[in-house]
Amino acid sequence: MIPKIRRSPHQPTSVVTGAAGFLGSHLTDLLVSRGHKVIGIDNFVTGAVDNISHLGGNPDFKFIQQDVTEFLFLDAPVDYVWHFASPASPIDYAELPIQTLKVEDYWGNVNPIGPRGCYDEAKRFAEALVMAYHNEHAMQTRIVRIFNTYGPRMRLNDGRVVPAFISQALKNKPLTVFGKGKQTRSFCFVSDLIEGIYRLMMSSYDLPVNIGNPVEMTMLEFARQIIRATGSGSKITFKPLPQDDPKQRRPDIGRARKLLGWEPKVPLSEGLQKTIEYFRGRV
Ligand code: UDP
Repeated sequence: MIPKIRRSPHQPTSVVTGAAGFLGSHLTDLLVSRGHKVIGIDNFVTGAVDNISHLGGNPDFKFIQQDVTEFLFLDAPVDYVWHFASPASPIDYAELPIQTLKVEDYWGNVNPIGPRGCYDEAKRFAEALVMAYHNEHAMQTRIVRIFNTYGPRMRLNDGRVVPAFISQALKNKPLTVFGKGKQTRSFCFVSDLIEGIYRLMMSSYDLPVNIGNPVEMTMLEFARQIIRATGSGSKITFKPLPQDDPKQRRPDIGRARKLLGWEPKVPLSEGLQKTIEYFRGRV
């Protein structure tokens, strides 16, 4: 009997820039788990080998160590490009302003020449660039606007509030609240964010979509929650508010809900426990 020859279905190939970073490595894991072949690119300027070492030897993952602003030659067709390479924390982009400008998505009211200018303007420029390629070359494009995200694989010393507060609490050192701590943020657990981004890519929507968690709190409330969640004896100390620090940030996720059927699922308490667990072994 002649066996039936069945063509294997097409395996999609994804390129992930910033694959060794916090978001890029979680995205890579999700794509591999959903059957993609992933080509990861990173120059380790802020990424870490540890974030991708578990993928070593996986035939569906190939890694190229390269600066994403240099020309990249790939010898096989690519289905999706996910651009996640950029310094994204205030400490990183203060040290790497040129690299940040070169790599990087708002109709934001931002100060182009302030300390956050290299990051804010890079995002705006990237959206303009993506829409220009979309219109000029009829390229299929997606634009995600990512809001504050947290989870395992964030860098302990990246300067952002989640790793800063957790590491301070775990060391029983005072939590450094900037200003009076009245400014608000809303934090999305990384698995929720990555699922939202994946759904956006697989949709046919080419205008910007907010992905984030709309549960908003002040930084003072957040500091207290971290102290409770870690069981720390830390106190709170107040430090000067950085220049141009936004007073409020909370995504309107109406579009993502409607178009992608997506909304965050992981409550802050649960996401924080997972993040604290990750940091415990590292402080
Ligand atoms: N923040 C703080 N203490 C810290 C680090 C940050 O109070 O040690 C505040 C910061 O001023 C901002 C918020 O926490 O209002 C979130 O800061 P982050 O750098 O994480 O992200 P941003 O939303 O500012 O990009």
